[in-house]
Amino acid sequence: MMKDQSTPDNGDSSRRRDFIKIGLGALAASTCAGGLCSCGGKEDTVELLTPEGEVVEVPAQHVSHVHKTVGVSKEEARKGIEGRKFVMVIDLARCNNARKCITACQKMHHLPEDKEWIRVRLMKDTEESAPYWFPKTCFHCDNPPCVKVCPVDATFKRSDGLVLIDNERCIGCKFCMAACPYSTRVFNWDEPEQPEEIQALDFSPETSVPSRVGTVEKCDFCPDMARMGKLPDCVTACPNGVFYFGDENEDIVTNGDETVRFSQLINDRSGYRYMEDLGTKPRVWYLPPRDRLFPVDRGMENLPEDLQDILQEMLDT
Ligand code: SF4
Repeated sequence: MMKDQSTPDNGDSSRRRDFIKIGLGALAASTCAGGLCSCGGKEDTVELLTPEGEVVEVPAQHVSHVHKTVGVSKEEARKGIEGRKFVMVIDLARCNNARKCITACQKMHHLPEDKEWIRVRLMKDTEESAPYWFPKTCFHCDNPPCVKVCPVDATFKRSDGLVLIDNERCIGCKFCMAACPYSTRVFNWDEPEQPEEIQALDFSPETSVPSRVGTVEKCDFCPDMARMGKLPDCVTACPNGVFYFGDENEDIVTNGDETVRFSQLINDRSGYRYMEDLGTKPRVWYLPPRDRLFPVDRGMENLPEDLQDILQEMLDT
């Protein structure tokens, strides 16, 4: 299903649950089939299929993501999904720091509240220009300095563009953290507190769970979801359609509501890559915060009061 970017959105949220096909393959914002959950959607409820074949709605907070990596060997997880070249586009004009991407990512990866693999920063390019909210993931660089410095090959670049980490190889030297110019990686200083059933899983670089003390973690673009034909949780959780995810080989990206040509979107909206002059070749593109949908103050509401004060003071000076 291909929708022209210029086609207005009629706001029918049920389309978000429909399976959206992208070319021959499929990445989708969908209701999971086979008794699994519909993970991280916009709504506060999700639909489940009972063993009797009945569809029921339950509150989203009672449902957690099922990690389904059956059949994906360590070797395959290091190789990547054949024929794919994953890419993300972040529309800065739509972000109001709703922070749903952050909480959906934490839920998906069983992270505590204080650990963020996606961060939303308040940016101001020059003294004269207006501030804006800037979500930052791992950029899955095509020329990743983090991969080059790893002495044990724990972090690696796949054929589908993703940069992942094998925490069973990681020795916690933090060279990758120092090498990443975007500060996207985080370190597990303490024994992670994750549910027993998650701790009991075999670690896979495709799910990044279970976490392990003394190792490095980061945004993984949810490759296990891509294998199931679904979008990363940050994409589907965003109420404003900020994140587009897709396949550069097929030249298509979607935010779950709109499916557009990647090259046209970048061309029409003057897309750029953050600090591209470093030569890292990020696989994440930004659309400039032109004609913003929300005043920047709106995003302050979702932050602790002391942080609001600090940011406001910075903006006022
Ligand atoms: Fe590595 Fe940082 Fe690039 Fe991610 S953003 S691939 S951690 S250098």
